[in-house]
Formats: sequence, structure tokens, C-alpha cells
Amino acid sequence: MAAIRVLPDLLINQIAAGEVIERPAAALKELLENSLDAGAHEISVQLASGGTKLLKVSDDGHGIGKDELKLALSRHATSKIATLDDLERIASLGFRGEALASIAAVSHLTLTSRIAEDKHAWAIAVEGGTLAPPTPAAHEPGSCVEVLDIYFNTPARRKFLKSESTEYAHCDETFKRIALARPDVAFRLQHNGRAQWHLPSHNRAERISAVLGEDFGAAAIPVEAESGNTRLTGLVGAPASARGTRDAQYFLVNGRFVRDKILAHALRQAYQDVLHHDRHPSFVLSLDIDPARVDVNVHPAKSEVRFRDSQAVHQFVFHAVSRALSGAAGAATDVIPEAPARTESAGFMGTQHRMPLGVAQSSAVYETLFGRGGAAAALSTPAAAWAPAAPGASAVRASGEAELPPLGFALAQLAGIYVLAQNEHGLVIVDMHAAHERIVYEKLKVQLDADRIAMQPLLIPAVFNAERIDVATAEDHADTLSKIGFEIAVLSPTSLAVRAVPVALKDADAGQLARDVLREIREVGASRVLIEAQNELLSTMACHTAVRANRLLTVTEMNALLREMEATERSGQCNHGRPTWHQISVAELDKLFRRGR
Ligand code: ADP
Ligand code: MG
Repeated sequence: MAAIRVLPDLLINQIAAGEVIERPAAALKELLENSLDAGAHEISVQLASGGTKLLKVSDDGHGIGKDELKLALSRHATSKIATLDDLERIASLGFRGEALASIAAVSHLTLTSRIAEDKHAWAIAVEGGTLAPPTPAAHEPGSCVEVLDIYFNTPARRKFLKSESTEYAHCDETFKRIALARPDVAFRLQHNGRAQWHLPSHNRAERISAVLGEDFGAAAIPVEAESGNTRLTGLVGAPASARGTRDAQYFLVNGRFVRDKILAHALRQAYQDVLHHDRHPSFVLSLDIDPARVDVNVHPAKSEVRFRDSQAVHQFVFHAVSRALSGAAGAATDVIPEAPARTESAGFMGTQHRMPLGVAQSSAVYETLFGRGGAAAALSTPAAAWAPAAPGASAVRASGEAELPPLGFALAQLAGIYVLAQNEHGLVIVDMHAAHERIVYEKLKVQLDADRIAMQPLLIPAVFNAERIDVATAEDHADTLSKIGFEIAVLSPTSLAVRAVPVALKDADAGQLARDVLREIREVGASRVLIEAQNELLSTMACHTAVRANRLLTVTEMNALLREMEATERSGQCNHGRPTWHQISVAELDKLFRRGR
């Protein structure tokens, strides 16, 4: 057995690098945060080959004096906190004192810096963890960190680097997050010598439009709320434009981009009633909160936070966004649920007449309702079509008299949304979209629990224009995607082709489905999406089921749906917790009509 030994500093830093800077974009994030912490007003970034060959950030911040250059590059050396008390109320973006040391351990790094009092700058170079003494250099007051050939000495890490365009896409996303967080600071970014971003200092709305596009800025609704010293400001996408805009979701807490379940949930809930649940809102929201009420020291890359009183934060954000959305809808009070659009033909199916009391029921329907053995009384389909789709769901008694299956047989479709059926107890009303979603959800779940979701190759791949970050996600997480039934090929840095989708979703819009799944993976992280967030992912997928509101179903289809519901576990609830069907007993109907029995 090997002896226990203390690891050399370089190795410690290389291990830390694996965690703190898992790819060039993560190094970029650390450098940009350092510049902001130094009070910079202007920051410029130069990248080459997606940040793998060159990553250079210069700023006009307060700089580092000659005597402290070496310290800045040492592990656990920071100017940002000194005591545990400071750790509990962090106002800066950095505080762990390990970014520069970690980056320097896996690259050729040069730190050049000048404080205002000095006549010139000093530069210090690090070669694979070894520091050279500072030498005089030219630089305006401020700092510049140049990182060449990241991971040159850690082949294992280098192997994980993806294509140049994928690494660049991640850098671009990182840059946008930081630019959105600090509209007051001017930013520039060059990639392979070409200018990609030039953002002068802005107010918040200008910056959001500059980063996310004028379309989003113009259609978005401002949010402005304050409670004590907690403030929420920003823009949320108008529900109507949710389909058109790209799904940009940025939550900033004290100037830091974070992923947080509590905040995501508050947003989802606020949009619930105004947005069809398979559309995703775009938003940029900044939450400013007393640093003592939020713990940022829960993740090495500091991309997660923990609120000390998460319930209060949830309520505050939910109400602020709901209020903004309802104001935009012209309502004085609560959010008005969007009524599903109803088409002219959405009466009882099988007939086109419209009468004051709805539509006269055909005699066939009447017989089904009140006659015996509804099996003989189909609307327009032959009796055979009533046969149950799921074996065992309904039994035919030996006497030849049909016994009604638990959810009965379909009578008609109402308003393009509901399936009406008659069972032993009376009337069954099914929300067909919710029911179908639940069926698909359970199918996907059973398959994934068993190993992987069955794939359906598409005859014609669905090609779509994608954000760079989605292309990067598709390339990064091909394994995860294949486990959940997708094959998505990268065609170019901005286009993807869906080659296979889950069998259960073969009729869905493959492009839209793939986009939503990529977004979910990107937000939650592939390592967690199948563990902690599996149910959310599956419900996102199930939302894309083929049966949409306003599609007229044949009686055969309606009955097939009922039989499938019976065969599906927990079919009484859709994935969003809404019920999928409702029973109205004959007794309730009798009461309604004051009919004593
Ligand atoms: P942290 O940001 O967690 O303190 P870093 O390793 O990122 O740790 O940086 C170490 C220290 O170097 C910082 O605390 C800061 O004092 C100094 N420093 C780093 N980058 C800059 C910069 N761009 N301008 C001024 N000081 C900097
Ligand atoms: Mg730092």
C-alpha cells in the first residue's frame, strides 16, 4: 500500500481546477468576476479557438500592487473576505481565493497589473505553477490576465474539451450572463480577432435589448417590486410572445447569475395561468437582497445559492411577477387565465347544427346515455370500434351483456377539449390533452426506469436553427440525450438535426421538443437531469404529446384514450397535478334537475 503523503501545491491546484474551471468558459467567468470585483468600468475580452488557445481579460479596475501580485496567484489568498462573519454576508462575486491559482496551474498565465499610484505596470508569469519574479510592463491602471493553452499539462481535462464552436458558445453564454448582470459596465468581446460584442454602458432595459434582441426588449413587461430592502427588477416576456422569442431565462441574485429551483418555481407559477404550460417565458430578473439572507458558498462555481428564508423569497418573486403580468393583461386584480380558443366547429362532434342549448343530441347519443349496453350505439362508427383498446380493461359477461369499463364509453367531444363518456356511475368528463399527457408521461417513465427510452428514427430529420448554446448542449450531452430517446446531430455551429425522438412522442414537433429538452438539460445540468429533475424533464417531454386542444377525435380515438387511461398508473392526475378526468354521478345530475328518484 502506498504511503500517505501531503500533495504538492501544483497538484492541489490542478485538482481544484477540475472543479472550479471545468472548461474555458468557467475560467472566463472567474476572470470577468475578478474585474467586476475590482470596480472596473470597462472590460475587454479576447478569445482564440473558443478560449482554448487564448483567453485574455483586461479591465480598468483598481489593480494589484507589485508586492501583492504573487499573493493574488496563491491558493486561498483573497482580498475579499477575512473572517467567517464576512463569509456570511458576501458582497463580492469572488471570495474563495482559488480561481487564479487554479487557472495558473493548468495554463501559461500572465498577470499584468497597475495601481493608480504607480507609473507603470508589473507583470508576473506563471509556467505550470512556477512563478517568475515581477517585471516592469506597460498597462493603464487596471489589470490584464492572459491565459494561453488552457489544460496544456492536464491531458485528461483536455480530452473533455469539445469543438471550438461549442467552447465558444459556452464563453458567449457566460459573457452574456455577466453583461446582463452589470449594465453599468462597458464590455467588448473578440473571438479569433473578430469583434463579437460591443456593449457601451447602459441602463438595464437598454442592456437587455442589446443582449437579447430588440424584439424581446420591445415586447417585454417591466417588473419593479420592493419589500423592505429586497428588490426585484427586470423584464419578463409577454405571454403572447413566448413562442416567438428565444428562451432566455436569466435570474441574477445580487449581481450573480444563478440557477435556483425556488426562483424557477416562482416564475413558472406566476406564468401558469397566462401561458400554455409547454411554452416557456423569457425573462431577465435581478433580485437584490441582504447578503446575509443568502448563502452563496454552496457550489464551487458559485452558480447556486441558498436562501435563508426561501418561502418568503418565493412569495415575493411570485407576487411581483404575477402583478406585472396581470397589469399587462389589463386586469386590475388577479391574473386572468387565458381562455382556450374555441373554434366554430367545436360543438358536439358529428353534427354541425348550433342551437341555443348547444347542439341537439343525435338519437345515437341518446341511446348511449339511456339505453342499455351502449356498445350498440356508436355515433358514426361501427360497433366494433367500441372494443376496448387495452386488453382486460373491459370484460364481456358470459351472458353477452357488455359490462361498462371503469371510465365507460365515449359519447362525444365537447368544445374541442373534453371527452364525455358514460360509465356505471353516470357522466365522465375527460380533459383529453391532460389525459394524453399523463399517459405519455407514464410510458416514458416506465421505459426510463427500465433503462432507456425507446427511440423512433425520423424518416426526415427535423433540422432547425439553434442558439449556439443549444448546439453546444447537444454535443456535450449526446449520451444523456440518447438515454431519453433522442439523436440530435450537429450540422453547424447554429443548426441541429433531430434524427430520432422517443417513440411515444413520434408525432410531436421534433424541433420544438428538442429545443425544450436541450434547454432543460442545459439549465439543470446533465449530471442531475436524470436524477433530481427526471420528473420535470419527463413532464416537459410529455407536454409535446400529439393530442392538442381543438383536435376533433373520432369515437374510436376517444375510446382508445379511455382504455389507455385505465391501463395507465395514476391516470387521474396529469403531470402538473391537474386532474385528467371528473365524474358526475347520475345522482348529482338528478339534483341539478330536481328530479327525485
Ligand atoms: P477571489 O476572487 O476569490 O478572491 P482569485 O483567485 O480570483 O480569488 O483572485 C485572488 C485575488 O487577486 C483577489 O482577491 C484580488 O485581490 C486579486 N485580483 C484578481 N483579479 C484581479 C483584478 N482583475 N483586479 C484587481 N485585483 C484582482
Ligand atoms: Mg475571483
